[in-house]
Formats: sequence, C-alpha cells, structure tokens
Amino acid sequence: MNTTQLKQWLTELAAVIADNRDELSKLDQALGDGDHGINMHRGFQAVLSELPNIKEEDEPAALLQKVATILISKVGGASGPLYGTAFLRMSAACKGKQTLDDETMVVALKQAAEGIAQRGKAAPGEGTLLDVWSTVANEAKETGMDWNQLEASAREGMEATKDMVVKRGRGAILGEQSVGHIDPGAVSSYYLFKTLCNTMKA
Ligand code: ADP
Ligand code: MG
Ligand code: MG
Repeated sequence: MNTTQLKQWLTELAAVIADNRDELSKLDQALGDGDHGINMHRGFQAVLSELPNIKEEDEPAALLQKVATILISKVGGASGPLYGTAFLRMSAACKGKQTLDDETMVVALKQAAEGIAQRGKAAPGEGTLLDVWSTVANEAKETGMDWNQLEASAREGMEATKDMVVKRGRGAILGEQSVGHIDPGAVSSYYLFKTLCNTMKA
C-alpha cells in the first residue's frame, strides 16, 4: 500500500460516511446522543479537503499522522480521540516506509487496536468500535492480509456488537437494555475497513 492508495481509500471512506451519516446518527440515537454520523462526517470532510495537499511521494506515515490530527480536532465526542489514536498508532508503525508491506500492515492494525483499547479503557466484547478493530487485527495476524477475509471479519465484529451489553461510552448507561442494538462506532469502523478492502482489491 502506498500514499496514492491511501488517498483513494480516504476519499472513498469520506463518501461512504457522507452517504450513511443519517444511519450512523440513528444508531447513535438508540445507544447514545444521536450525533455519531454528524461527528464522523465533519471529521472525514476535513480529511477530504486536506488530501489535495498530500503529494504522491509523501510517506504514508505523514498522511496517517495528518489524518489523526484532523480527526482528533474535528470529530469530537468519544470517537474522535479513539479514531485519532488508531491513525496515530498506524502512522508510528509505518514510519520510514514508502510502501507498506503486509507485515507492516499487520503490525499497524495490531497497534491501532491496542491504542484504542488503552485510550478507551476498553476490551473486546464491550460493544464498541474496538470489537471491529480487534477482530480485524487478530484475523490479519492469523491469516495475513487477505482482503476478502478481512472485510468479512470487520462485518462479523460489527454484527457481534448487537448481542453485547455495552460497557463503555454513553451506551453503558443502558446496561442490559443496550442489547439488540448495533454499536454506531462499530458500523463506522466497518465502513473504514470495507472501503480499505475495496481499495486494495481494485
Ligand atoms: P459521543 O458518544 O461522545 O457522542 P460518538 O457518538 O461520535 O461520540 O461516538 C460513539 C462511539 O464511540 C460508540 O458507538 C463507541 O463505538 C465508541 N466509544 C465510546 N466510548 C468508548 C470507549 N471508552 N472505548 C471504545 N469505544 C468507545
Ligand atoms: Mg454520540
Ligand atoms: Mg456526542
């Protein structure tokens, strides 16, 4: 993966989030305060407007770091710092490389998931976006960067949040009542991986 592919991915992701922002906010009405789509849309539109300033020869790590900074300052809410941390950790794992080989991406995903867990004081199984990131990171470690398999894992991680009692974030207030709802952050994370897999398969 190189900087041009990263830009393609982020462009596609911003479009998918724009198309689904109402759905994401609606899911957040059930478990939170109903703003997840607005938050993510604001953040990824800001990312989109930065992309023309990124040159093909810029390192992937530099772009990933820029995305982190933008998401932290623009998304807000609980999800902004968590997505920001994920991109910061991926940036750190990719430093000094012009193209990212599979081994680097496996490490980047693992460190992103660990960063989210630390930052959110969260664990897998607590009904958050971490359920998608950790499922994908584990799958990548076990079977390598098979993009079809990783998209399926992201979907599994997202769907699994439906049956979970939410333990972190606003949804935790609902206790058992949170069961039966897919977590909005898990859905936006699924879109992130779905568009990444699309870009890499193209
Ligand atoms: P807010 O809850 O502040 O309005 P958002 O609606 O943008 O922020 O994001 C909510 C999402 O953030 C949740 O669906 C969940 O996936 C994620 N989230 C919230 N708190 C945590 C946490 N402590 N650890 C992991 N993920 C979290
Ligand atoms: Mg919210
Ligand atoms: Mg909010």
